[in-house]
Amino acid sequence: MPSRTPAQKPVLWIATRNRGKTREFSQLLRGVCRVRDLHGLPHFPEIRETGKSFAANARIKACALSRALPNHPILADDSGLVVPSLGGRPGVYSARFSGPQATDQSNRTKLLRLLKGKSGFLRKAYFEAWLVIAENGAVLGSVSGRVWGQITHVEAGTGGFGYDSIFQPKGFSKTLGQLPAITKHRISHRARAVAKFKPRLSRLLKTSRLKKCI
Ligand code: IMP
Repeated sequence: MPSRTPAQKPVLWIATRNRGKTREFSQLLRGVCRVRDLHGLPHFPEIRETGKSFAANARIKACALSRALPNHPILADDSGLVVPSLGGRPGVYSARFSGPQATDQSNRTKLLRLLKGKSGFLRKAYFEAWLVIAENGAVLGSVSGRVWGQITHVEAGTGGFGYDSIFQPKGFSKTLGQLPAITKHRISHRARAVAKFKPRLSRLLKTSRLKKCI
């Protein structure tokens, strides 16, 4: 049987404007689908993440976009960095940790400042991702993934996004910003969550009307 070209792959919409996440999902789901994000729907309003957990926010985002795009399975990822010695911060506020105008750089700078002078277990942290698939406003399933590591004292590396350049995964001597993307895609919170639903997603996309719409 001839192999399918990328243009024939079904499209999966992701409820995010975070280009770093979209890039990672495209790589993690290569061979299964193409991904599109909210940059392809410029008039879609900002989704307010009012939940108190990653799971709740992922549901909010997936359901909101799935109501706007009927009969399309929608994926949402809510994720962030949790530092137990800081009471779980930045947690669900990871993207906005340093305020409404936050950038990845200002968030990292704030975190390094809060951990200044602390070492050992006080720098332990984990990334967590919750992925929710929804269609027509109803949740079809959710999975999560986690990766433990520690916050470095200084930034290192330019790969990835967000807090990658200050997060050293357990068992590695480099940050996620220094490690090749292929390594991050083996061990990350997002990769672990994706691995749990990839076979189900392939089946869902095959039966969805989405394939015929795009
Ligand atoms: P969300 O869009 O509300 O889920 O916010 C996610 C935020 O968590 C991002 O803006 C990053 O700051 C952080 N984050 C999530 N996943 C990663 C990752 O894989 N690497 C680095 N930072 C991440």
